Parts: sequence; structure tokens; C-alpha cells
Amino acid sequence: MSVSGPAAVTGSAVSARGLVKRYGDVTALAGVDLDVPEGTVLALLGPNGAGKTTTVRVLTTLLVPDEGSATVAGVDVLRDPREVRRRIGLSGQYAAVDENLTGFENLDMVGRLYHLGRKRSRERAHELLDQFRLSDAANRVAKTYSGGMRRRLDLAGALVAQPPVLFLDEPTTGLDPRSRNDMWELLTQMVQGGTTLLLTTQYLEEAERLADDIVVIDHGRVIARGTADELKTQVGGQRVEVVVAVDAEVETAVEILRPVAVGEIQVERRARRVTVPVSGGTPALVDALRRLEEVGIVPLDAGLRRPTLDDVFLTLTGKPAEELADEHEEQNA
Ligand code: ADP
Ligand code: MG
Repeated sequence: MSVSGPAAVTGSAVSARGLVKRYGDVTALAGVDLDVPEGTVLALLGPNGAGKTTTVRVLTTLLVPDEGSATVAGVDVLRDPREVRRRIGLSGQYAAVDENLTGFENLDMVGRLYHLGRKRSRERAHELLDQFRLSDAANRVAKTYSGGMRRRLDLAGALVAQPPVLFLDEPTTGLDPRSRNDMWELLTQMVQGGTTLLLTTQYLEEAERLADDIVVIDHGRVIARGTADELKTQVGGQRVEVVVAVDAEVETAVEILRPVAVGEIQVERRARRVTVPVSGGTPALVDALRRLEEVGIVPLDAGLRRPTLDDVFLTLTGKPAEELADEHEEQNA
């Protein structure tokens, strides 16, 4: 076991240095460093297969890394895993809800496991059912719950013992937009209460909405880190975005705008949207519109915008986030 990289930052609720994990030929983690200052939210953002779950499993003591070190809530993950487990909550991609128990029974059972005592366990279960808007369903078995309700119950379970550090692995994957928004609101409230949170996500929007800091990982490596704003600045420049009226104009627009592009032009065929990284601001937009007009293209929509986190992915990996996710899915299929 070797320690590499810079020294751990003090005041970190979570700190990892040089985490490496291999599965045979697959290097799931190739040297991950990260810090989560106390009371903040870190989003570990990456496509399917990037190494997010592996990182969470190492930090929550469920998996021993081949190399590297980590501390959580001030405790060394490898030296004292039991003590780490006492100080964390974990809510996973694969929910730890017992389908055959009611919502109340699920939470009450977790309280007993944490030795809260009979009275306190029941109280805590009711508190959480109330907070997570599950009181009406408290006495129904969990298998009758919707996907969103199950996630909320699973998250409530992770909060029974009021852990100072919480890990959430893809808390909203597979949820419909409304349940996702509900979850975001709950998480925002929870974080305002002072909980340190490390969450993983494939959604750029989720990282932007919830996290103070973002660590972008791909193929087990950190490829960028910073606030959403910092990442956008890192990618630099502005984008001219035009939406053309008919499919045939997409190719023409790409050809015509190539001379003004300072980076790769992005094309969303279905939306007939062409996005061009440019060096100037408004003058670049005016220039682009004039060039299009010369060949008879009048866009349905045109504008100038700052880079999005999707652009961060495109710039860092040469591929949009969605395409990366698809590619990994094929690999893992
Ligand atoms: P993510 O959570 O970002 O989707 P994971 O951490 O689950 O990614 O996986 C990272 C890589 O490690 C992937 O290539 C995955 O296929 C591989 N992997 C994960 N767990 C195992 C395992 N138990 N055995 C073999 N390969 C694994
Ligand atoms: Mg995962």
C-alpha cells in the first residue's frame, strides 16, 4: 500500500489519495485523489463504467483498494473500517430496502441495527417517514411503493443514525423527472443541515444543481475538477449555437461555420442544432449569422452561450457525455 499525490487536506470529511483498483485486466480505478471539505457536497461525475461505484465502495470500506489510502470523518478507511462504518451513511444504486417489510418496519429495523434502542428507533422512523413524505405509506409493505418512494425510503435508511458523512451512489438514476426534482429538494434540505455529502451521478445537471465541487472521472481517472463555473472556464470561450429549419441545412451550416470555429463543432441532428466554439463574443455571433445568410440559411434560433458541463466532457474526452455512457454500456454488455 503506497501513499501518493499531495498530502490530505485538513478539515476534509473525505480524503482519498492514489486509489487504484484492478479487476483482472480491467483497471477500475487508476489513481483517484479527492477531498470533500466538511459540510460541503462533492459530485463524482462520470459516464457508466467510469469508476464511481468502485470509488464509493472503497470509501465506505466495502472494497479494499490495491493501492492508495483514504480517510473518512478523520478515520483511516483501511486501518479502522468498523469505526468508519459507524460514522457514515450509504445509500446505493441497488437499494437496501426490504421489500416485504413496511416503510416503518424498514426504518425501525435500521435503528435497532444501530443500537438506537426500541423507543428511539421508533421515534426516528416516524421522524424520517414524515421528513421524506412517506407517513401515509408507513404501514404499507415496500414492494407496493413507487420507484421514487423506494429511493426516498432507502435514503431515509441511510440517515437513521444521523451520520456526519453521507455517500449516495446515483441517487436519482432511473427516476422520472418529478421524483428527481423531489429528491433534489430533499438533498438540498439535508445538506443545509450540515451533512457532508459525496454523491455520484451521470447527470451534469444534477452535479451543477447540488454540488459545491465536481470531480469528473472517466476510465478510473480524474480528468477535471472544480466548481461548475471553474470547469466551464477551463473549457473556455463562448459558443455560437444555431438551430436550422430543415435537416438538409445542418451539413451546410457546419461547412459554412467551420472557418469561425476554434474547436470541435458539435451537431445534434435530431434538434438540428449546431454548436460552434468561438473566440469572440457578440461579433462572432454576428459574423456567423452573416455567413449563414450568404448561403440562404436563416436559423430558427441563434444565440451565444457559455460552455455547459456537456462541453466540458466534449473538450476533455472528445465525446459528449451521452455518447461516452453508450460506449461504456456496450463495453459492459
Ligand atoms: P460506475 O459506477 O462509474 O459505472 P464502476 O465503478 O461500477 O463504474 O466500474 C468501473 C469499471 O470496473 C467498469 O469497467 C466495470 O465493468 C469494472 N468493474 C466493476 N466492478 C467489477 C467487478 N466486480 N468485476 C470486474 N469488473 C468490475
Ligand atoms: Mg455505478
